[in-house]
Amino acid sequence: MKPLVDRFGRRITYLRVSVTDRCNQRCNYCSRPQEEHKERSQVLTFSELTEIISVMASMGVEKIRFTGGEPLVRKGIAELVRMVNAIEGIKETTLTTNATLLSRFAKELKEAGLKRVNVSLDTLDAEKFRIITGGGRLSQVLEGIDAALSEGLVPLKVNTVVMRGINEDELASIIDFARERGISARFIECMPMRDGFDWKKHYIPISEVLEREDIKERVAVEEKREEGGAEYILPLRDGSGRVGFISPLSNRFCERCNRLRLTADGRLHLCLPRDMDVSLRDAIRGGADRESLEAIIRKAVELKPKEGEYTFSTEGRKKSMIHIGG
Ligand code: SAM
Repeated sequence: MKPLVDRFGRRITYLRVSVTDRCNQRCNYCSRPQEEHKERSQVLTFSELTEIISVMASMGVEKIRFTGGEPLVRKGIAELVRMVNAIEGIKETTLTTNATLLSRFAKELKEAGLKRVNVSLDTLDAEKFRIITGGGRLSQVLEGIDAALSEGLVPLKVNTVVMRGINEDELASIIDFARERGISARFIECMPMRDGFDWKKHYIPISEVLEREDIKERVAVEEKREEGGAEYILPLRDGSGRVGFISPLSNRFCERCNRLRLTADGRLHLCLPRDMDVSLRDAIRGGADRESLEAIIRKAVELKPKEGEYTFSTEGRKKSMIHIGG
């Protein structure tokens, strides 16, 4: 089978699948306080999802990451993981979660063949956590992390969106928290993904994070290489692990982009910050067979832009991160 390659020679091997646009949290930088959700009938069924993934696997997609909304609020998520793992060509399934429901699902997910999880965690302060997430309980997340670790959903990574005036003072504690549990911390630049959040006020470039004394004390920042692209993975000074620094805005990695995204309502989304997509759900529901689906996907991939364009304004955006899945 011909691999899925775009017009810039980038081979697509990775699909991020948003299984729902619903979330049990309302993180201020991610979703609007009153987010509209797709009707259930508009969301892909498991059979539609696996059909799309199977066609993409036949073109060389090997890795699937389930996301959302919150993927663990989708009923039957472990069954979906099992179905996707059974698709020929799929080598690894992973999941990004806020972990509030992870203690309930970790065992089932592991048994279904899920390899590992990334947990989003922006603060270790329970009150701040409640404010950022619109009412979330930090203790549930910590229980979720423990459950994932004891089920062996590893290597586990904790993703922290770095925000000035919100959690910039906690980065060192998050590194220590991760180190104590044998997990990796990853710091991500805040992206302008939704209107109503004062992104400019909170954005901190990764270069500034690497200048911080409390970070330099813990992380061998001098090992950073310019060619590292958007993700620098740097060792801890005590040799106990590594920390990731992801800079989608200040140092992009578009030339190495190997990914596509599928939204819960079946739109194949071509580039994170751009509103460019093609509806695979409409194609399937209109009777497209595997061959036609493959043709539609190949044609869509031809439209994948060379670079993402963060306009530094979110006005007019159709989707916020909760719809795309990060
Ligand atoms: N609910 C799940 C979770 O919390 O991990 C999965 C979906 S969430 C949209 C996926 C990731 O996107 C999270 O790690 C979240 O922090 C990140 N994210 C959302 N909005 C963002 C923004 N404006 N800038 C950077 N990362 C963002």
